[in-house]
Amino acid sequence: MHDVAVIGLGPVGATLALLLAKQGLSVLAIDRSAEVYDKPRAIGLDHESLRCFQNLGLAEALAPTIAPYRVSEYRAPDGGLLRRLLPQPEPNLLAWPANVMFIQPELDTLLRAELHRRGLDVREGEAVDGLTQDGAGVRLTMAGGGQVAARFAVCCDGAGSALRRQLGAEHEDLDFDEPWVVVDTLLEDPAAALPDCNVQYCHPARPTTFIRGPRNLRRWELMLLPGEDPQAMATEASVWRLLAPWLRPEQARLWRMAAYRFHALVARPWRFGCIFLAGDAAHQTPPFMGQGLNQGLRDAGNLAWKLAEVCRGAAGDALLDTYEAERRPNVRAVIAVTRDLGKIVCERDPALAAARDASLKAEVAAGRGDVVRQDLLPPLTGGCLSETPGAGAPCPQPWVIVSGERRRLDEVAPAGWRLLVLGDAEVPAAPGIAVVRLGPGRLEEADGLLASWLAARGAVMVLERPDHVVFGTAGVGEVAALLERWRSASGGT
Ligand SMILES: Cc1cc2nc3c(=O)[nH]c(=O)nc-3n(C[C@H](O)[C@H](O)[C@H](O)COP(=O)(O)OP(=O)(O)OC[C@H]3O[C@@H](n4cnc5c(N)ncnc54)[C@H](O)[C@@H]3O)c2cc1C
Repeated sequence: MHDVAVIGLGPVGATLALLLAKQGLSVLAIDRSAEVYDKPRAIGLDHESLRCFQNLGLAEALAPTIAPYRVSEYRAPDGGLLRRLLPQPEPNLLAWPANVMFIQPELDTLLRAELHRRGLDVREGEAVDGLTQDGAGVRLTMAGGGQVAARFAVCCDGAGSALRRQLGAEHEDLDFDEPWVVVDTLLEDPAAALPDCNVQYCHPARPTTFIRGPRNLRRWELMLLPGEDPQAMATEASVWRLLAPWLRPEQARLWRMAAYRFHALVARPWRFGCIFLAGDAAHQTPPFMGQGLNQGLRDAGNLAWKLAEVCRGAAGDALLDTYEAERRPNVRAVIAVTRDLGKIVCERDPALAAARDASLKAEVAAGRGDVVRQDLLPPLTGGCLSETPGAGAPCPQPWVIVSGERRRLDEVAPAGWRLLVLGDAEVPAAPGIAVVRLGPGRLEEADGLLASWLAARGAVMVLERPDHVVFGTAGVGEVAALLERWRSASGGT
């Protein structure tokens, strides 16, 4: 029997399977399709996702698909600036740019290939029809006949998840449901007069998003109007008509297009005994913050170490309840913020749009028009965390100097639970936690990033979870209390 069956090998399932295998678990990885989905979807990745791929040894292979993120400007019909979403300024807290652009099918292909390269039990072209469970684990009924068994199963079978429905999960609807057509072009005329940043055209006549992707990829997302047939609009002739204000057919090649409904939905619950939901199967967001996949990868990182600890017998079953306790409210908050941005963009009533423009232009004039994207993402709360400053946020990854060279911390420090300690602060023995000391004569920080981060929180050490979330911080004399909280929260057996 496998430890975990991962059902669905989109980017979330494939990443989860790789993270579980890295922890030494026996993983069965299944997808009904042998091909990755090739229509336009995710185009923006966050630094937490990049760090996850770094940990899987995929950073170098990903480099060719990645390009810098540009500012997103919200523009009124008269061209006036309504808002700007900015990338987090340097220093890069996780040793990666906070946001980058990328091409999803290239990532998906890389992840699938990595599953094979690492020798996981991969079954492509095989669908799972149903799931049953008893005290011993889960049985998967395969569409082609036969059953396979695993101790746990994670449904990463995407937005249309049939398994989610079978399990009886409900959907909480956060009130967004709009039809859009998404078009990826490959620019052939470098002189084409296109914006040099991303733009949300908040035009009531046709709300539209323009995105500068990597290389010569340029994307338009165009809202469909009442009465427009999505399939008829996602054809070459219709799309060129829609793109006419920006581009002529001789300036670019249409690469791919698709019609979507953008939703804001959160499934409930995410856990059914030994079965979990993750990624789009658990939540769907409109794309205005580029968070669907990033949030799914956070699900994968969160669940992977917890399943590993329970399978190894290092933690009790209650640790698995913290997955939904932490992730569901967090992703719900992110989707609510995204929905609100979407409502700004999608206003189709000219009078309401004019009122919106007046109010947002006043904000810009008062110096309040700029928002740092990462500031819109709240930290985790509840679950396996302490209540100390910084808890629930991504833990910084400082650059360190090793043999005269700059290296990212995760390349040189052990994975798993670790206590990053500045200097000589005393630490009692804590089996299961690696103590990593930084400072002169120790592992030397290159830029003092962690030291400043800790100082801003009145701390001299940070306890980092295996998914690089901050469990908690401690000042001098507070470490015993932090470790005590860790013992009870991490559910050691
Ligand atoms: C226009 C658009 C723009 C977006 N932009 C961004 C962005 O910039 N940043 C971002 O983070 N996200 C973005 N997203 C969201 C992102 O693309 C998705 O969140 C992400 O692809 C979901 O990945 P997943 O692995 O959960 O699901 P999927 O990629 O949908 O994978 C599900 C897999 O499950 C398989 N499957 C289904 N049923 C079964 C079954 N019964 N048995 C076996 N296998 C099964 C399918 O074949 C599929 O391979 C965007 C989405 C859209 C539509």
